[in-house]
Amino acid sequence: MSKPETFALVIHGGAGARPGRDYTAALKKLHEILESIGGELAGGGSALDAVVRAVAIMEDSALYTAGRGSAPNSDGFVELDASVMDGSTQNAGAIAAVRAVKNPVHAARTVLEKTDHVLLAGRGAESFLREANIAFIDDSDAYFRQAEPDDGRVHGTVGAVAHDTRGDLAAATSTGGIFRKLAGRVGDSPIPGAGVWADKNIAVSCTGHGEYFLRTAAARSIAALKQYKGLSLKHAMDTFLTAQLKPLGGDGGAIAIDEHNNIAANFTGFGMKYGYITDQLQPTTDLQNAYV
Ligand code: ASP
Repeated sequence: MSKPETFALVIHGGAGARPGRDYTAALKKLHEILESIGGELAGGGSALDAVVRAVAIMEDSALYTAGRGSAPNSDGFVELDASVMDGSTQNAGAIAAVRAVKNPVHAARTVLEKTDHVLLAGRGAESFLREANIAFIDDSDAYFRQAEPDDGRVHGTVGAVAHDTRGDLAAATSTGGIFRKLAGRVGDSPIPGAGVWADKNIAVSCTGHGEYFLRTAAARSIAALKQYKGLSLKHAMDTFLTAQLKPLGGDGGAIAIDEHNNIAANFTGFGMKYGYITDQLQPTTDLQNAYV
């Protein structure tokens, strides 16, 4: 176990960052989130609250391909996936292929807290969320970012992992999915064990080409490499990326924290927008030099 005063927060704004593109605003927003949510964790806030709040701010910002920044699928609709996992109980909540929800991460938390289920999808999920008073966007055309043909974006996602002063871990992931995905396509982000994982020893949030993260059970694979092979957090993540994801041709990255307050972030291919803060480390953001 870590010392009681230790905490850590790692967040990402999606893998697939391209050389030459200006990510100043996206990185600045990550820095602001680290300062504000890091302050809450330092003051005794819970890991679960921290990851939900951090992801909701990113969803609202329209700077990442999640929430407000999501691009439409091939039928012209934004369909959103999100998940949250509480490491202290291993409870999880998630939504998939849901339209017009303002903050998908709040929807995922509502599934976690108000149902006996883990994942609700599509129209049934929307009915449940309306009844649960989750905020919807009435004019989703005006709210969500319009895709441009030369956008150049392939995919993007936001995520957060946190370790609080009680020693609890949590993870959350939210996405608009892959650019021009088929209607109804669901990626790894809302699937516990693929795009998100949290238990008593680790919290992981992934970003990248979701089909590959599903095929490799990405988040749980990183956890298992640490748990059963005894690898350090960094080594477990690196081993997953190089030995499992890359050989299949997948690209993307992950962020993670373990029960000893170690943090890790790494990716294959293009860069990843990410940042971290701990009781020992100042807020730091980066695009290319992951693997902290
Ligand atoms: N993993 C997400 C998906 O496949 C996209 C991303 O992380 O960029 O839906």
